[in-house]
Amino acid sequence: MAEREIRVTGRLGLHARAAANLVRVASQFQSTITLQRLDTSVEADAKSILSILMLAASRGTQLRATAEGLDEQAALDAVVDVFARNFDEPEKAEPPLSSAITEEIRSKGLGVSDGIVCGRVLRLQDGTRDVYRAEIDEADLERERRRFRAAVRLSRRQLEAIKERAERELGRGNAYIFDAHLLFLEDAKLTRDVEDYIVNERANAEWAAKVVGDRLLSIYLQINDEYLRERGSDIEDVIQRLLANLTGEGRAHPKLSEDSVIVSPDLLPSTIAELDLNHVRAIATDGGGWTSHMAIIARGLGLTAVVGLRDFYNRTRTGDQIIVDAQRGEVILNPSAATIERYEFTTPGTVSSRADATSDSGPVITRDGKSIALRANVELPAEFAAVRKFGACGVGLFRSEFLLSRPGLLLSEDEQFGSYRALAEAAGSDGAIIRLFDLGGETGYELSERPERNPALGLRAIRFGLKHDKVMRAQVRAILRAARFGNLRLVIPMVIDVGDVRRARLVIAAEEASLHSEGVEYDSVKVGAMIEIPSAVLTADRIAPEVDFFELGTNDLVQYTLAVDRGNDDVSDWFRTLHPAVLFGINRSLKIAAEAGIPALVCGEMASTPAYAVLLLGMGAVDLSMTPASIPRVRSALSNIDTNEAAELVRMCLDCATADDVEEIVRTEFRKRWPDVFPPKALPPPAIS
Ligand code: PEP
Ligand code: MG
Repeated sequence: MAEREIRVTGRLGLHARAAANLVRVASQFQSTITLQRLDTSVEADAKSILSILMLAASRGTQLRATAEGLDEQAALDAVVDVFARNFDEPEKAEPPLSSAITEEIRSKGLGVSDGIVCGRVLRLQDGTRDVYRAEIDEADLERERRRFRAAVRLSRRQLEAIKERAERELGRGNAYIFDAHLLFLEDAKLTRDVEDYIVNERANAEWAAKVVGDRLLSIYLQINDEYLRERGSDIEDVIQRLLANLTGEGRAHPKLSEDSVIVSPDLLPSTIAELDLNHVRAIATDGGGWTSHMAIIARGLGLTAVVGLRDFYNRTRTGDQIIVDAQRGEVILNPSAATIERYEFTTPGTVSSRADATSDSGPVITRDGKSIALRANVELPAEFAAVRKFGACGVGLFRSEFLLSRPGLLLSEDEQFGSYRALAEAAGSDGAIIRLFDLGGETGYELSERPERNPALGLRAIRFGLKHDKVMRAQVRAILRAARFGNLRLVIPMVIDVGDVRRARLVIAAEEASLHSEGVEYDSVKVGAMIEIPSAVLTADRIAPEVDFFELGTNDLVQYTLAVDRGNDDVSDWFRTLHPAVLFGINRSLKIAAEAGIPALVCGEMASTPAYAVLLLGMGAVDLSMTPASIPRVRSALSNIDTNEAAELVRMCLDCATADDVEEIVRTEFRKRWPDVFPPKALPPPAIS
């Protein structure tokens, strides 16, 4: 056995990159190489990065290095040498990991929810899923281990690709953290322990990885050195990646600190619903578009958000400082002192994001005396207060599926009843329209066992309800019972035609009859149809006689009319709300509703944009529902409009062939007619050819 005492001299102690270099050197020898702290006697295997990091050896720590085996002397010499060379790292090129990328990085995206926020990055990879334990048969244990190894291989390929890109785009010095991640991933301490756990406990690989990962993390959390303790987040990152690859799903999100800015490749609405909203200041995502549900919820909650940042997530580290500027549609990572000063942040936090309350309420009256109802779209009970705060005429759309804050989790009838009753009470005499669960699609609420090939065209909304009528029946009963406590209506999402309406109405009628025969108190409700797919527009005249109202979902109407995924920023240039085909659809639906004598609300994001709301008025809409924070803005614009003028404009727009043509008319005509109401910023920007 050969041994020697050595001292850690690097400024940051035995940190991840140093440990990675040490592992590389030690692994070249056959001998067992151990490092032991002289003060605490804690020991580490020099071939395991996890083990070395757990020494928490900061600068000045005295260690005893021991090598035992055939090549022990050579091994010891090499280890001592790598310490003496300070791990081949120039002292000053040793940035703390959490701010490895220290130069200011700016990234352009699309501001979808107003505000400017300065905070700390919290990285979140989406698709949060719980890990469950499963008992594995003796005969299947080997297969389970193979599955784990396959997930390790897949994770390795992903990390190598990330590392390569980071090297290319940010330079070698900033990509080294992924070397450490790769070493964590393949560290025997992790892989062997997981495989042992699978076999000894007959556990599934996910569970084994979680238990072993949690154990490692809990050891890290006890480290008495803040810098080294933070490395726990790197281990967590790797474990989450492994779990995501094992389950084919996503990664659990960590705890939130006061000023978190969630940075994510693409955030599922279900994940936002799960976040501790008191601690989130802003959201920045690689994907997403103006009408993606994530953006809609961010607006609803008054959370500043910039989406469509493409490759931003991979450039960040949890803990990095960040400015999210939704006004410019920009994020700034590691802002310089000068930048921060320019933004006039005195302390990190929010400069401006949440819209102000208003004292105006009730309908808005246009210049020609038309009364227009402005209602609120609401996703989460946390937003109920905003209905009053922004002077909404009740709730025009309650996206009830957001009550199901976890995928696969359904609320009981009683739990739903409680929420709908609270909604009815919050909405006041103007009432609330509850949409039956619009599950599936991009909401992240997938209830089917198999992933769908094409979720936007899959078993979603009323299709899901009709297939799983137990779920729908419980919801309908809860709504009918809650209707006693206020003015509630019910709307059926994504009907294809009147056939869907008839089937849904049969379920509603049956539940009314059951409640009646059970002696449970309830009230009947008016039933409407969402008009948001082209077939519903084309057959609207046949739907109208069998419903109490129409509700136009312009977000999906744009998506399905133009065949453009509303959540995919690669095609956001084609997502054109003012496309004439969309305007035809809206115009036709509103006309048919008027002829049939039924109300028609317009509730997509279009109504939240004042200039677009003017066009809706020009097509005859008198009932708009929108993100509550937009109401004051829309109110003030519409009070300056004469609906006859708006109708004149619409006639011009309906003659157009392309969205560009419509937008050009909007720009020139609005500027001419209402220059004080619509500054250029409030109008569609000119197309870049
Ligand atoms: C719409 O499609 O416009 C709508 C209001 O519903 P959602 O955005 O929830 O699909
Ligand atoms: Mg919709």
